[in-house]
Amino acid sequence: MTRKVLIVEDEEYVLHVLKTILGTDGYRILTAKNGESAKMKILTHQPDMILLDLGLPDIDGVDLLKKLRSWTKVPVLVVSARTTEKDKVLALDQGADDYISKPFSSPELLARIRAAFRRNIIADYVVDTFSVGDFLIDFEKRVVTVKSVPVRLTQIEYQIVELIARQPGKVMTYGYLIKNIWGPYADTQNNRILRVNMSNIRRKIEEDSMNPRYILTEIGVGYRMAEN
Ligand code: CA
Repeated sequence: MTRKVLIVEDEEYVLHVLKTILGTDGYRILTAKNGESAKMKILTHQPDMILLDLGLPDIDGVDLLKKLRSWTKVPVLVVSARTTEKDKVLALDQGADDYISKPFSSPELLARIRAAFRRNIIADYVVDTFSVGDFLIDFEKRVVTVKSVPVRLTQIEYQIVELIARQPGKVMTYGYLIKNIWGPYADTQNNRILRVNMSNIRRKIEEDSMNPRYILTEIGVGYRMAEN
């Protein structure tokens, strides 16, 4: 099975170099240019390894690492221009599996990646669920239940519910949802298909779909998962 490696790196050039190097060893590559996008990629794709830059535009890589470690053991190789011993120790203490200083050589990088895979750390994403009221979503089993009764959702409907439930309380804009469900080239101006899906979802999960309790509408903006 092809291993999935997520590269978290905001510098276009370095990202390009890393992609090229990893491509030669046949990994499936995912990329993220900031912490927010990295989190979403990890949640939706569950990569087998993460190469993590520390200087990200929206979060410090070490803080991202700290958050990650509460729910996954996925091997993380820090690839950073911070080269002091203190930086290395800090990242390793927060759960990084290895530390590679920039600039790096491609044979060394590939060797370290192979070594980390040899250690056989299983990414082991925590079984996680989210619930509010009688609504429950099991992200690992990809199952939604209401009052403990499984709800039959289509693939697309499930994906929409999952995206919204991953960050309860946060408004997910129509454009964000459309792009994440139907891909980067989807027409974000046209949210008709999203609204159709949402009304089907509500019919299935809400007691009164006119007065939803779980997935709330922010008029003109998007949807938001209710919080406990
Ligand atoms: Ca950077």
